[in-house]
Amino acid sequence: MVDSILEDVLAQFHQAADQMGLDDRYREYLTSWKTVFQTQFPVEMDDGSTRIFHGARVIHNAALGPTKGGMRYAANLTIDDVKALSMLMTWKCAIANLPFGGAKGGVVVDPATLSLGELENLTRRFTSELEPIIGPDKDIPAPDLGTNAQVMAWMMDTYSMSHGYTIPAVVTGKPVAIGGSEGRFEATGRGVLYLLEAQLSRQGSVRGKRVSVQGFGNVGSVAARLIHEAGGIVTHLSDRFVALHNPAGIDVPGAYAFAASGHNLKEWHEQSPDAAEIIAPEDVLTADVDILVPAAVESVLTGENAPRVRARLIVEAANGPTTMEADAILNERGVTIIPDILANAGGVTVSYFEWVQARQYLHWSEAQVNEELRRILDRAYEAVVTAAANNGHPISQRAAANRVGIERVTEAARLRGFYP
Ligand code: GLU
Repeated sequence: MVDSILEDVLAQFHQAADQMGLDDRYREYLTSWKTVFQTQFPVEMDDGSTRIFHGARVIHNAALGPTKGGMRYAANLTIDDVKALSMLMTWKCAIANLPFGGAKGGVVVDPATLSLGELENLTRRFTSELEPIIGPDKDIPAPDLGTNAQVMAWMMDTYSMSHGYTIPAVVTGKPVAIGGSEGRFEATGRGVLYLLEAQLSRQGSVRGKRVSVQGFGNVGSVAARLIHEAGGIVTHLSDRFVALHNPAGIDVPGAYAFAASGHNLKEWHEQSPDAAEIIAPEDVLTADVDILVPAAVESVLTGENAPRVRARLIVEAANGPTTMEADAILNERGVTIIPDILANAGGVTVSYFEWVQARQYLHWSEAQVNEELRRILDRAYEAVVTAAANNGHPISQRAAANRVGIERVTEAARLRGFYP
């Protein structure tokens, strides 16, 4: 049985709060959600019928600034998931030292079942419903599972048209042609590589390491490609449709180029069957590799499979891929986990750069974006490993990351005070 991600995220919070001796009033404040906005709205479908969709935007905490977080389109999305993911965004932004609080939102829908026109109608109507919540100084959406740069373009346009002028800073992750940032599309996957390099700089490098990547969407595909380019050997790779294995290393650039033209890994394998053998999806998680990168969805590492995980280093590219139970087992077994709120902070960090550029009508080069990204993530990594050393009583990177995040948000709340 997989626990709800909300239970796990709250349990992690309380664990860190206990270790820190956090004052009860902040404990209660930080386990409250500032705004939970839910809406049911109609969308006209291609066949002339009307369907009602359920959408939400949850703002967890705004002590550090305007709130930031993705918009997820998924058939199994629940309000508890959105609450959990918004809390993770609060800690993630704080750990990266961004001037943002945490939020998350989404619509209960499988976007693959919609035509492009229906997806646009849904996005525009949902954005109209969000009018009182979002804004460039208030709450700034971005892509997440099931959404992309095109969805952000529609959101930006809908919001802008209702205000009568273009407001590019209302969302991030837009196409570059309309004010998106260079490097934003790749940022989460690139951040995964940077964190991996920061971790391995103490024990060699990515070169020659065997890696298993679960997920071949925006995050997993870019992470796999950049790890391959850095000399890592991606022996296991999977998406929603197939899991693949090649002990000599999968042709990641080939798979990436094929996927970029709108295909999945199963179709790539059908086209080049000799490139890899098909394995059971679960085997990607328990593969005999040095590094495991879960880059798909939450709660995939569980109490059931954690004892069989063979990688000694896990980099959580997805949000919440490890249940509390699995986390305890993996810690006990001495497996190092770079936690989601640190490992995948590259996305929101370049979102911050995009927001800064939009507000200044400036355009940074990709080299500048990547250089600044590395600087911010290196600093975040240092803060977390310093907290993990815990004056000679080491704690896990997850516990340390939670502590850094909670400390920074609590400090902001304390300085600001509760008003009125
Ligand atoms: N959806 C991404 C995340 O979970 C990015 C959020 C953002 O850029 O605001 O971190």
